[in-house]
Amino acid sequence: MMGTRLRWPRLPSGSHALHTAVKARQRCSDIWVPQSISKNAAKPDNTTAHLINAGFLYQPNAGIFHFLPLGLRVLEKVERLVDRHMRSVGASKVALSSLSRQSLWQKSGRLSAGGELFKLRDRSGVDWLLAPTHEEEFTEMVRLSGTLRKSSSLRLYQIGRKYRDELRPRGGLLRGKEFIMKDLYTFDREFDAALKTYDEIRAAYRNFFDELGLPYSEARADSGSMGGNLSHEYHLTADEGEDTVITCSSCDHARNIEFVPRLAKNFHRLTNDALAQSKSVWPTSPVSRDFISEDKNTLVRVLVNSHGRSDSETKSSINTHVVKAALSGHAEVDTGIQEEAALDAFLAAKPGANPGPENGNTTPQRRIIYLLDKDIDLEHFLLGRKRDDSLGELEVCVISTPTGGDLDGSPIDLLLPSKGDTCPSCKTGVLDVQKTIELGHTFFLGARYSSKFNLVWLAKSSEGGSVPKPYEMGCHGIGVSRLVAAAARLRAPTGKEKSWSLQWPKAIAPYHISVICSTESAAQIEASHEIYDGLEREGFDVLLDDRTDCSFGWKLADIRILGIPIAVLPARKSGEKRWVVICPALEFEEDVQATEVLETVQSLMNRLISRSCGMSLPKNEIGDKWGSIRNKLSKDGAGFRLYPSRTPKNDAAFKGRLDQGEKLPKKDKSDQDEPNDSYNVNVQANNQGSARHNKLFTIQVKPSNTKEELKAKLKSAAEAKGLI
Ligand SMILES: [Zn+2]
Repeated sequence: MMGTRLRWPRLPSGSHALHTAVKARQRCSDIWVPQSISKNAAKPDNTTAHLINAGFLYQPNAGIFHFLPLGLRVLEKVERLVDRHMRSVGASKVALSSLSRQSLWQKSGRLSAGGELFKLRDRSGVDWLLAPTHEEEFTEMVRLSGTLRKSSSLRLYQIGRKYRDELRPRGGLLRGKEFIMKDLYTFDREFDAALKTYDEIRAAYRNFFDELGLPYSEARADSGSMGGNLSHEYHLTADEGEDTVITCSSCDHARNIEFVPRLAKNFHRLTNDALAQSKSVWPTSPVSRDFISEDKNTLVRVLVNSHGRSDSETKSSINTHVVKAALSGHAEVDTGIQEEAALDAFLAAKPGANPGPENGNTTPQRRIIYLLDKDIDLEHFLLGRKRDDSLGELEVCVISTPTGGDLDGSPIDLLLPSKGDTCPSCKTGVLDVQKTIELGHTFFLGARYSSKFNLVWLAKSSEGGSVPKPYEMGCHGIGVSRLVAAAARLRAPTGKEKSWSLQWPKAIAPYHISVICSTESAAQIEASHEIYDGLEREGFDVLLDDRTDCSFGWKLADIRILGIPIAVLPARKSGEKRWVVICPALEFEEDVQATEVLETVQSLMNRLISRSCGMSLPKNEIGDKWGSIRNKLSKDGAGFRLYPSRTPKNDAAFKGRLDQGEKLPKKDKSDQDEPNDSYNVNVQANNQGSARHNKLFTIQVKPSNTKEELKAKLKSAAEAKGLI
């Protein structure tokens, strides 16, 4: 019998055979788009709707999306950017299966908690789920593979599909049943090393979002079901966002509205005698709002001062996250029940109807807990109370902020912060409250998973033997598919434009330039190819719009709809010699020689980058080093914040800004061998919300400067100018 022989591809003959590249220009006519892209782009409800209309996405079912060629291109650019920043922290890339055994989730205690888990059973009766996250799988894999025996730390990440049985998918790509995430898991032996890892990952996240070139904030966050007590979120400012982030105009105070700092609180049980001594009236009339506990045995009556607002306004500005946090350890508050229903439910619940587990079958204590805002004085509260017998036999308790001396935590502030409030951290800045979209999250997990999965190492004990210690873990996510929807910003039609347009940051735009090709003559086609090839050689992503079934006007409308920043098209009646370069975002349109196209495009691209990230050039020269200078300075840098975007609205929130200036010349010829890598950094004052800024002073920085050196430079320069 004859064996099969492998056939090797035959090499083309000729002296340059190995160097012959296949010409593969990206032609518009080759991109599959299900329908004419301009047709439905008139009135999108949100960015995802526009992405569907424009042919980036296809939606077969609610909460499920297929990425089409244009969308996939953007997605892959985001993934490559993520990969680069993960490499910068030495993380190794893997790809785990989406199928995860339910028994692992039982072990971590997360199986029952997840009503949003997609569960399934195979034919041999094994229970699986479609993983929404991979802490269990990674911890188990690392334990069984034993790779940690030799090294003291490990960083593993993947970019993959995750699943969530969302009852009401909404916001398009922002909250669907399936989504694409980057998740990184870190393992360290010692607590201090794990904290250092955590800070390194945060710095990498800031570099990633800097390079993306969109305004974002890094906010303290609640760690939710992930556990642990240290976590940060990365938010993009966006009107269609479902999160709310509070930032300060002058310090680093930035937090999700759901994040409640550790509260300083006193818990008093009141006796009938204390209540009977009712003598005075309230100094102010507080507004009260009732909540009820999950077991219906505790009525929580929240008291806040109205500060001149109506009762209903005051009630609706009570921060339910603080209510829950203040009651933790005493009662589980159900904030989903309307106020009237809460009192009714409490009165209707018969004593003994809901025996608490701690009481066995005996009647649980029914009680009322008064929760006082920090502005309500406990003494006055007690004096103003009368016994309320209508509620039956009750235990009466009060939770309030301790008085006098230094507080061990934050005072109980029950009102939602609003724009213009004084910052609670620095007491000088004012707060801004913005709608945002959460794009990333870092969690310090500690030993939460490693202890349950017995992922341990042997530490030396004081007796000379060894003791097993669990690894300290962290997990860090970036919502890759939601980032695609969040980063595409929608712009309403202006002037002559008829349809909505997209504005992608350059880093992830599907293409940078569309070369609109005239197909009238072979010479014109050839000239378009030359322009295309020249731009591609310089590293731009170019699209050749060779469609023959639509006009130049239609093609120009399409670059707006698709968010391609620049178009190049042959000038009318110029043969192949002159070209028109158009950049809608900069309202730029100019007729240039064929030889000037590249230079014009480069300068437009630089203007677009500096516009989006508030940085003057030469960015490409200093590259990643700028990120490290920025990170060093942005921490309490003499009251100035780096890197607000150039929009007046965002700039108004900052006192000043730092812009990178020009590279400095070498001092003299003797320095010839030592490159001078110093740059000017201009410190500018914001001009009442205008996009123009007054330069205050300039400092010279080197990428090698330490944070302390940079702060000292800023401080002494500001002092010399009499600014501080
Ligand atoms: Zn502040």
